[in-house]
Amino acid sequence: MSRIVFRNANLLDGDQPLRPGSSVVVEEQRISAVGADASIAARPDDRVVDLEGRTLMPGLWSCHFHTCFSNWALASAPLLGLEAQPGVMAIVAQKNITTAMDCGFTSLVCSSSAYNLDHALKVAITGGLISGPRIWACTREMISPGDQADGSNSSWYMEVGNTGLLRICSGPEAFRSAIREELGRGADIAKIAASMGHGVGPAEELESVNRAELAAAVDAAHGRGKKIRAHAASRRSIIDSAWAGVDIIDHADRMDTECIDAILEAGSSLAPTLLFSQRFLAFLQGMLDQGVAMGASFIAEGPAERQRRIDEGRADFENICSVLPEANRAGMRIVVGDDYGVTSLPHGDYMDELALYVKEIGIPPLDVIRWATKHGAETVDRGDELGTVEIGKLADLLVVDGDPIADIACLKDRDNLLGIMKEGVFYKDALGVPGVP
Ligand SMILES: [Zn+2]
Repeated sequence: MSRIVFRNANLLDGDQPLRPGSSVVVEEQRISAVGADASIAARPDDRVVDLEGRTLMPGLWSCHFHTCFSNWALASAPLLGLEAQPGVMAIVAQKNITTAMDCGFTSLVCSSSAYNLDHALKVAITGGLISGPRIWACTREMISPGDQADGSNSSWYMEVGNTGLLRICSGPEAFRSAIREELGRGADIAKIAASMGHGVGPAEELESVNRAELAAAVDAAHGRGKKIRAHAASRRSIIDSAWAGVDIIDHADRMDTECIDAILEAGSSLAPTLLFSQRFLAFLQGMLDQGVAMGASFIAEGPAERQRRIDEGRADFENICSVLPEANRAGMRIVVGDDYGVTSLPHGDYMDELALYVKEIGIPPLDVIRWATKHGAETVDRGDELGTVEIGKLADLLVVDGDPIADIACLKDRDNLLGIMKEGVFYKDALGVPGVP
């Protein structure tokens, strides 16, 4: 079996600083050698690729990914997931995961999907019907009645039976049985809405689900050996989610020092998802300034109330921007990913999120790379096989014509991704003939 030997790489292994002059050997699906160029000899039948100092790094991980969100999603709210018939939604979802793979994301940990689409895509990929990233499939999102996302409630007069992407539960046993059923359909991770807020409105300290419901939900998911994530924007919901042992806390808009301590103690991962907040708040402000009505609730609220909600949402956004560096320094397992596919945030804009963390919030670029690689794998307990470039790990690799530490935005131009490899197989190979990139 011939091997692929990457020579003269600027190795960004997903954890440590860049190591120029490195060689990495891929043998079948795995990385079989990593070291200085001089320490690794090529064999006659190897494909030797001289990277001429280009960056070699792990495939990226998006740990908050909605496969079926398309740009029409919020325009046709309130019922997320019912924008089109299931067949069309499946095609949209396939297009979105292809976009992610084209952008270098070889692994996706998903966040709420309609029609069991995440699992369907996973089956299609593992069965060889289509090529695409590794998928951790998510359930629908379990929410309590009257939650901000409960379109069936705000549109009760329509008597719509299908609640789409969402599943309405009330009481611990309702959450437990819903999660067992949803996970039984093949999902790897359950999603629950522990609070309202995050971009669409302020994260008010109201009860969305209570501790008994959270504990039952976590127990149900962990009892089946699966993960669980929670939309938790309010301070109270962050503390309660960490207390219950939620694996991924999403958004955390009102995170403070006490929340940081609670998340660290629980060992949860955090998906801050700040690009959505930034763009959507600007979108809402633009609509208000232009006098454009937005949905029944916004019409009912009037301009002053709309402005109050935007201002409070902006305060939440500014809060997490200010505390995120502290959480990072404290060693929190932060991951990347966001609500791509909603208005103002199209699929494909993934690298703008990484650039926001580095250029606007001041997180060191090496840390953000670690969030997007090593931390993703660790979040789903696959850190032993994925997430970094190390001997024995599966070969999910990117070849980048640029230095993401000097300028993380170099990852944005897809032409700079000369090689995208998943499990030892090139998904994209623009490296030229052997030895001549
Ligand atoms: Zn989301």
